[in-house]
Order: sequence, then structure tokens, then C-alpha cells
Amino acid sequence: MKITAAQRTVIMKLWGRVCKDRGWKASDREFRLGKFGEIIGRPITSTDDIGRIDECTKLMKELSALLGVDVQAAREADDLTINRARVLFHQICGELVPCLELYIADVRGYLTAIMEDKNRWWKIDRPARDIKITDLTARPIRKWDFKTRSMKEFPSQLEQLQYTLAARLNTLRNQAGDSIHDMRTRAGLGCNCSKCISARNQSALQNPGEKSLADQAAAEEAAAEDAGDDACFEQEMHKEAQAFGDCPF
Ligand SMILES: [Zn+2]
Repeated sequence: MKITAAQRTVIMKLWGRVCKDRGWKASDREFRLGKFGEIIGRPITSTDDIGRIDECTKLMKELSALLGVDVQAAREADDLTINRARVLFHQICGELVPCLELYIADVRGYLTAIMEDKNRWWKIDRPARDIKITDLTARPIRKWDFKTRSMKEFPSQLEQLQYTLAARLNTLRNQAGDSIHDMRTRAGLGCNCSKCISARNQSALQNPGEKSLADQAAAEEAAAEDAGDDACFEQEMHKEAQAFGDCPF
């Protein structure tokens, strides 16, 4: 059963306010139907196609939620997203890429291919240049989940890239028969595996004055993460891969 005229009016009024709030063009019918379709989880060709009960309720709820975010909260969320992006960017470019370079000749091309595939770069707006890591954001992706019939949060574009690269790197490292210590040392990164930590602690015991704050911090971090434990690392990767398997991309 399709929506009533009264429901239609409420939805259109809400949409008008959302557009004003977001700077969207309210008269753009294609865009509106696209957004409505995204919210209810299926493509529609007219607002009148919206189902009277479930879909209508869902649409009204989501549109109200879009309006419910006050400017301050939105700004704070943006700041968090930017910080998260910085952390992920550092992990990808500062840690994963140098390690990948040990096993892959053209890491840049490799990254581009993964990013294009995951983000449907060519299908979205057919840009004239390759996708770059700075085109990706750390904003969580919200999509309608058919199973639970609710909006669900999925990993951001940068998180997806990090999961994929970390999982592939783990496979490449295992194929090469390298330990995490071998890999990180060859890539010129500091190593926090249990062997390196105890070696550092040993030298600190022999030269008590030399134990630096950085070493202490590294030891604590390693104790917390136990990065040297392959089984633990693999478990972590498995968890991430599962999260990734859940992702709609
Ligand atoms: Zn090590």
C-alpha cells in the first residue's frame, strides 16, 4: 500500500528542511529519489512509490534524524573524523606501505586498483584521474540493513582500505616465510615484538641509566598489544576481515 497524500506532504516538508540545512538543491528530483531510495534501501522512481507503513516510518525517522544533528555536534563529529583520518593515513602510509614495498613492486598501482574497486570510483562520477588516498574519508558509512531492518554503520573508506591492506600484507608475509620482526626490520620500522622488547629491557638492566621513556612506552604498548605474537596478530586480522566481510562494498 502506497503513502497517503498527507504522509507525502510531511515527507516533502521534512525534505525541504533537510535540503536547506545541508545546502542541497530541493528541486533536484533525481537527487531526492536517490536519497529516499538509499534510506529505504531500494530504488524508487517516484515519492508515491514509498510504502505506507514501514518505508514511510523509516523515511520520516531518518529525515528527522538528519535534522536532529545540531551544528555544534556535527562540527565535533567532523573533527573526530579528521583525526581518525590522520591516524589511519599514518598507519597506511607510514607502516603498511613500507612493508608492502618488500613484497610488491608497484605498491602505488596496487593501492590504486584496490581503492578503485572498493569505492566504485569509475561508476560514481567517472573522473579523469586516478583515485588517491586523500579522496577517501574516515566517515563511517551508514546503510540500510535488510536483515535487522535498521540503519547500520559500516567501516569508513579508509578503514576498509586499512583492513584490506593489512590482511593482504599478512598473506604476503606468510608466503615469504617472514616473521613480523623480519618484515618490520627490513622495512626500516621499529619493532615491538617480544624479542626486541626483552632485548631492550636486557640492555636497560645492564645500563640502568639508559632506559628511556620511549622504551618504557614501547614496552607497555607491546604488553598491551603483544604485537610479536603471530597467533594474536592473526586473530586480530581475522576479526578485521570478518568486519570487512560484513561491508556492502
Ligand atoms: Zn622484533
